[in-house]
Amino acid sequence: MKKPAMRLLPRRVRAAWLALVACAGLIACGAAPDPQLEVTGPTMGTYYAVKVARPPAGLTADTLRAGVERLLSGVIATLSTYDPASELSRLNRNPSTDWVPVSAALYPVLAQGQRLSAVSEGAFDITVGPLVNLWGFGPGAHSDAVPAPELIQAARERVGYGKLELRTEPAAIRRQRGDLYIDLSAMGEGEGADQMAAWLESIGATDYMAAVAGTLRVRGKNALGRPWGIAIEVPDPEQRSVQRILPVTDRAVSTSGDYRNFFKAGGKRYSHHIDPHTGTPVEQSLASVTVVLPAGTDSARRADGLATTLMVMGEARGLALAEAQGLGAYFILREEGGFRELTTTAFKRIAVE
Ligand code: ADP
Ligand code: MG
Repeated sequence: MKKPAMRLLPRRVRAAWLALVACAGLIACGAAPDPQLEVTGPTMGTYYAVKVARPPAGLTADTLRAGVERLLSGVIATLSTYDPASELSRLNRNPSTDWVPVSAALYPVLAQGQRLSAVSEGAFDITVGPLVNLWGFGPGAHSDAVPAPELIQAARERVGYGKLELRTEPAAIRRQRGDLYIDLSAMGEGEGADQMAAWLESIGATDYMAAVAGTLRVRGKNALGRPWGIAIEVPDPEQRSVQRILPVTDRAVSTSGDYRNFFKAGGKRYSHHIDPHTGTPVEQSLASVTVVLPAGTDSARRADGLATTLMVMGEARGLALAEAQGLGAYFILREEGGFRELTTTAFKRIAVE
């Protein structure tokens, strides 16, 4: 089998995986922990990590690894723009402006993207790909330079979720322009976490944590019989310290940050969150957003997309949307001399569970 390009996310974010998974394990304790299986490995330019406490009979670390890696390869083969052979890459090279069939695996991710665009008035936009690539945050070269205004303008003309139509039965998409380029990287980790969770449930796991980088699903309790502890890190690439540990059971959690995948030019920082309305990376004091949702089908993908959406919307609009939608959301703002936290009402309830 052809080895897929194992990257959805750029190299620069590779280290970020640790952020949310490091603390899910055993914190010093007198009682002997229950058995737990643990596997981790590279995927999507970052890492996956899965822990299963009190695993179902017959599950071994080897079968766990094989199972999740097969799923994650499938996600990459469907929606990675880093794998030239993926379904999405083939679609992006297809200049047709007629209806083009899409697989049952790809369709829901596209539909999720369009829903997020509608709810965020276009702050989230899966057609933002030409701008992502132009700014050096896509699969091509990373120039670490601000693109010329005319190139930004040309890319902006290709962007707009209204230029993309979706149809079910049979699942298909139609693009108004043949040069539309779809980027689903903002939901790739979440799709991976949801698929791992669905598979774990299907084999009888009741207590697990399944993460791709900073996006994960948890169910049940850890090996100590306690809620899984999810570490949210201080949004500073120089530090590897924990801002807060969130105890969670039956949740999807995703953190989006501007502090790992960025470049500096002319004294300014440019991050990988692009405002489709301006064609430029968002400039703001928001350093990271963590979204916490009840666990369920597609919940990690939704949390992943929402975290990116809130980052693009920024502190004021993002917080207002999160409140209006009743989302559990935790914002960390960069301020002179440190960080400031903002949380939604739903998050405050989760944090004291
Ligand atoms: P983070 O968790 O930091 O948000 P993600 O990988 O989940 O990281 O999302 C960032 C990626 O989303 C970018 O690298 C880019 O491919 C894509 N992206 C950037 N801006 C937008 C946007 N406005 N709407 C949708 N996707 C975007
Ligand atoms: Mg995301």
